Amino acid sequence: MREAHAAGGVVTGPNAIAPDRYVYYPGTEVLAEDEVRVVACGTGMPDQRRGQASACFVFEFGNGEKLIFDIGSGSMRNINALMIPAEYLTKVFLSHLHTDHWADLSALWAGGWTSGRPVPLEVWGPSGREPEMGTAYAIEHFLEAFNWDYQTRAFKITPAPGGITVHEFDYRAENADVYDHDGIAVRSIPAIHTGDGPVSYIIEYAGLKLVFGGDTSPNKWFVEHARDADFVIHEAFPGPRFFQEDYGQPAQLAWRACCEFHTSGPAFGKIMSQIAPRHAVAYHTLEEAHQELLLGIRSTYDGPLSIAVDMMVWNITKDGVQERMAVSPDRASAVPGPTRQPPPERGRSDPMSDFIKAGEWGPGFNAQNEMLDEHMRKFDLQDRDWRPSKPWYKR
Ligand SMILES: [Zn+2]
Ligand SMILES: [Zn+2]
Repeated sequence: MREAHAAGGVVTGPNAIAPDRYVYYPGTEVLAEDEVRVVACGTGMPDQRRGQASACFVFEFGNGEKLIFDIGSGSMRNINALMIPAEYLTKVFLSHLHTDHWADLSALWAGGWTSGRPVPLEVWGPSGREPEMGTAYAIEHFLEAFNWDYQTRAFKITPAPGGITVHEFDYRAENADVYDHDGIAVRSIPAIHTGDGPVSYIIEYAGLKLVFGGDTSPNKWFVEHARDADFVIHEAFPGPRFFQEDYGQPAQLAWRACCEFHTSGPAFGKIMSQIAPRHAVAYHTLEEAHQELLLGIRSTYDGPLSIAVDMMVWNITKDGVQERMAVSPDRASAVPGPTRQPPPERGRSDPMSDFIKAGEWGPGFNAQNEMLDEHMRKFDLQDRDWRPSKPWYKR
């Protein structure tokens, strides 16, 4: 394994290796103890598209911890491309409950279960003005909605990974701790976005201050508490022209979507000029709007800036912020970790009835016997052969 290193460096000879100036190959670099790697796994709009998922940022810390900030629609395919074993992806922080910020929780929940996560997920998220508008309500009903999924996987695989532990906190709390573990502190501040509940997060680790802003229009809490941060992620929407002409929104919606319940380029720039981060990241936009967004941001801010696209990566230390792109196979998934899941629980009721089981067509099942016998011998599964009790089984 190589140490993560800053971009650049020279090629030392005609047969030497070029330093990874532009590319991060997931799974090939060990973080330094005081380093944080942030990967944009979703940077787009609620109508996710093949080239751009909805909001999601994975934070990896030098101490080995990995925290997911928002997990919007379509983002799980980018998370999987990082080739991180499911057992290390158990902690999710939600900025608010719009689907473009949490819909792929379902994909992490079920996909991580089938690819080896041995434990429940943990979700941190804000309360709402009423209980039915809060994270605990959302997760309780998420689990109810996916009950069929839960019961069948719990019976066939193992039940524990199907649980979700919720840590709901007061959305009005101002810079209060919501997480404090192993040198990582996460605090929340209120955001202003379409209803009570949304928050942004301040993350501190190894003397670094990082900020993940969820959806918000310009707000006083962000300007006060993100000040002087090392790395600040904040949404930035294209202007009304884009939403009306290129996105097809009616004019009266176009100038409110960008600029009343979100933050446009000039407003984003104004915020960054005020808080002066070491590096600013804009997201929640579309690549075809980047030029217009950039002009807007640069009308009010001339500091360090990335306009995020999916799979953009930053390595952050006290020495600097390095931006690259992650390059990973499209087919990466289910990378195993060291821990094995517990076996299925005895005594759980079988979600399949005898009526359905009686429909099993023997010739189809028996056609697999040679393949399954080989597997049984190879892994010594003779005492766990599930076939002899079946009426169709022919040796
Ligand atoms: Zn939203
Ligand atoms: Zn959003």
